[in-house]
Amino acid sequence: MIALDRVRRRYGMVTAIDDVSLTIAPGAFVALVGASGSGKSTLLRMINRLEEPDSGSVTIDGRDVTDQPAHRLRRRIGYVFQQHGLFPHMTVAANIAIGLTLAGRPVGDRVGEMLDLVELPRDVATRTPDALSGGQRQRVAIARALATAPPILLLDEALGALDPVTRDAVAGRLVDLHARLGLTTLLVTHDMAEALLTASRVLVMDEGRIVADATPAQLVAGQGGPVAEGLMAVPRHQAERLAALAR
Ligand code: ADP
Ligand code: MG
Repeated sequence: MIALDRVRRRYGMVTAIDDVSLTIAPGAFVALVGASGSGKSTLLRMINRLEEPDSGSVTIDGRDVTDQPAHRLRRRIGYVFQQHGLFPHMTVAANIAIGLTLAGRPVGDRVGEMLDLVELPRDVATRTPDALSGGQRQRVAIARALATAPPILLLDEALGALDPVTRDAVAGRLVDLHARLGLTTLLVTHDMAEALLTASRVLVMDEGRIVADATPAQLVAGQGGPVAEGLMAVPRHQAERLAALAR
């Protein structure tokens, strides 16, 4: 279980995280949605210690994340962000294996297995990232994040740079992987439709606070409160327009 207890984080005059308490159950697929600047990335990055709270605590299975060296913590937490972050001069294989290599663990057939997992042909292993499409790169980033078999996967706008068709395909793949690997997944997005269609629990952030914590069905039923309703307007309007076209 991931737990945040009364977490605060400020940057100068800006309060990025304002007294957030939250628990995420093992095996949950949670989306964190909100406008740009609402504090989503900061919150996510506190879980793998890329940011530290000013006050409050972050624990995983009851253990404070600061209890162990950051690199050891991060081996248990996959992390994917928008600009895939692959090493450009390394092959796909070396990118995927980097976590294992750094940990001094054998790579074996892990690269091939991970490529199978994200449904990429095994022969991309010898290419460098610039010889892949955006969607393929993002799949490699996911494969890299999962290569050390972490129980937790953090995704920060990880699908944001993809075209809609690829995005939908990779999102579907993620939901599938989440279930198959028994992951605890936390997906940050500014896109409410993406949150509704992937997660089983949606947290809405506004100015550093969590202002809604609801299921997709509750949000669709208009039970998320004003900020959530504001974010629901776009998918609602699109659905209405599509329905009108079908008449
Ligand atoms: P989101 O991911 O929802 O767009 P962020 O967590 O990135 O939001 O940022 C929340 C707030 O904290 C914003 O006002 C942002 O400008 C500020 N912020 C985030 N990181 C830094 C930083 N390293 N230095 C200064 N301000 C920051
Ligand atoms: Mg962000």
